Amino acid sequence: MTEPSTPRNAAWSRRRVLRSLTLPTLPLPLLALDGCGNGAASEKAGGSGRAASAPAGRTPSAQHPAPGSGSASARSDPSSAPTEPPLDDATPEVSQAAHVSDAVALTFHGDGSPALANALLTEAERNGARLTVLAVGHWLARYPQMAERVLHGGHELGNHTENHLAIDRMPESLAYSEIELCANRLEKLTGSRGRWFRQSQGQHASPEVRAAAQRAGYTTLLSYDLDPLDYRDPGANAVAHNVLSRIQGGNVVSMHLGHPGTVTALPVILDGLRQRGLRPVTASELFPISPSAGIVPS
Ligand SMILES: [Zn+2]
Repeated sequence: MTEPSTPRNAAWSRRRVLRSLTLPTLPLPLLALDGCGNGAASEKAGGSGRAASAPAGRTPSAQHPAPGSGSASARSDPSSAPTEPPLDDATPEVSQAAHVSDAVALTFHGDGSPALANALLTEAERNGARLTVLAVGHWLARYPQMAERVLHGGHELGNHTENHLAIDRMPESLAYSEIELCANRLEKLTGSRGRWFRQSQGQHASPEVRAAAQRAGYTTLLSYDLDPLDYRDPGANAVAHNVLSRIQGGNVVSMHLGHPGTVTALPVILDGLRQRGLRPVTASELFPISPSAGIVPS
């Protein structure tokens, strides 16, 4: 005879069943996570982006180590350690404008509710801020009006793959297809593929993904160096704190459309930037193209 479950046992059992039904049973390349970070960490944590205890972090890169070589945030964020960018610069990837002291780029994973996206963009415009939205192709397929909405507000629009899958685990031909499909949508909707491509499910693109992006016409990839983990919905105060406690000139911040806490946090973040003498600019303003060749060294 089975012993009756207590509520605690029942809850534990439900959690165990839910865990057994989630990520580990799915083929890895088919996982579409909401967070932009490294999916591998999240699968081990059984969830949505990264290990649940990881705080927000300013994540160092090989070319641009974090000041103080391993701040508390960088050391304690497991997502920052294994994702060093490749060092060959065939298709450069930028994540920080090291010599810019008075501007930052607020960049957004483009997906989710159009109403929330519109609310966030409107809040930015009310504060004179211009953002960079890396659109997921399936979002543009479902809400094609959002491409014009983003550009109409003076913001920048880029490519964040068609389905936000772990493209660094795909054969290059499939990774290319994920990039190309979104690029085609952007071109059809706006007349341009956009200057920027951002890797999905990983802070930095693998050499294979960088090559695929180059084939699709992207000469520079846009990463980030400050991740406030807003996609976990920690609350608006936490999102604002995670940004403002770490922000410095030259940072590229990774945030997400479609999250109410991010919408509420944005005016607080913009006010905090003003107090620190930092201007929120688009990625192309943070990384201007030199007249001769490529990006102005930073
Ligand atoms: Zn993303």
